[in-house]
Amino acid sequence: MEKRIYLDNAATTRVLPEVFETMKPFFTEEYGNPSSAYEFSGRVANRIADATEEIAKFINAKAKEIYFTSGGSESDNWALKGVADALRSKGNHIITSKIEHHAILHTCEYLEKQGYEVTYLDVDENGLVDPVALEKAIRPETILISIMFANNEIGTIEPIAEIGEIAHKHGIYFHTDAVQAFGHVPIDVEAMHIDMLSASGHKVNGPKGIGLLYIRTGTKISNFIHGGAQERGRRAGTTNAPGIMGFSKAVSIASERMNERTAHETKLRDRLIERVLSEIPHSRLNGHREKRLSNNTNFCFRFIEGESLLILLDKKGICASSGSACTSGALDPSHVLLAIGLPHEIAHGSVRFTLSEETTEEDIDYTVESLKQIVERLRSMSPLYEDFVKKEKLSKVN
Ligand SMILES: *Cc1c(COP(=O)(O)O)cnc(C)c1O
Repeated sequence: MEKRIYLDNAATTRVLPEVFETMKPFFTEEYGNPSSAYEFSGRVANRIADATEEIAKFINAKAKEIYFTSGGSESDNWALKGVADALRSKGNHIITSKIEHHAILHTCEYLEKQGYEVTYLDVDENGLVDPVALEKAIRPETILISIMFANNEIGTIEPIAEIGEIAHKHGIYFHTDAVQAFGHVPIDVEAMHIDMLSASGHKVNGPKGIGLLYIRTGTKISNFIHGGAQERGRRAGTTNAPGIMGFSKAVSIASERMNERTAHETKLRDRLIERVLSEIPHSRLNGHREKRLSNNTNFCFRFIEGESLLILLDKKGICASSGSACTSGALDPSHVLLAIGLPHEIAHGSVRFTLSEETTEEDIDYTVESLKQIVERLRSMSPLYEDFVKKEKLSKVN
């Protein structure tokens, strides 16, 4: 078999075999529509009720506050458009950050066209939102604050509990896109004052096509898909029973193994960071050194295009990513790297490696060795690097 080292777990993850096994019977045997009246369907409805309990417990919510969607993007769309619509008469101002996922940013742009006003908060050089700046941005007409739990490109974990407290002090709803944090970081919607939370199955070793929006009881938010009475009449469409069962299994595994997973990933993440920074000259780590997801690394290598680096890594069997999957392909620099203050030419040269519990030390060492060779090769062909080396020599002579 050809070598493949998968280090793009922020883009999507492998469905664990236990998860797949849990899902299987709901395709071929227990295929009844859980909304139907007969016992064959009732059985499925009962299993879904248990699965929903399991997921709710994981974030300290109630089962009736969990609404299943098709994924993180839909949940983000629903939270923003739903609250904007329901609170139109109260106000038209939304606060978010410059480093959100495009599912948030593009929805905000859409809402701006509808007459809403959006404040995009700056972040510091590590990608952190400043709670003081956030509080200052609040206006009488502010109806919603949406700040991601952890960033998908640079892994920075935001001060969510603090932001939630500020939102609630001012009587404003707080939504968080927790797609990257869910399953990696303990989440408590009560302690953290979260009113709405987005999560996605395929980012936590569950299947694609299933996600959730947690909506705190009493939150004013418009229904999202009109049709049948599924999801308590708020999001129509035949219940994705295999998806929910798989998602729930993935959550219970994540919950059980969170400590050992995090410890394993952190150890390998730190090995990768330390080796890259000490063995590859002119490299930098993007994102916060400590307040960071256990599986995320993001580097810039000066004088090198991220895209060329990715192609050569791919030739060595290493799957990595330059920023988010949505922007790679387009040669735009990442909006996240620009927001943390990197100049365009450096923001172009970034690579993200995101680990999983299946990543091994050998994978990390092979990746570092490959990176060293590739960076050296690309720099040897770079006129920018040649200039830089000449100047450095001159300055040493003088
Ligand atoms: C992947 C991702 C999404 C989108 O989730 P899908 O389930 O793929 O729609 C949204 N936000 C963040 C932070 C993500 O990483």
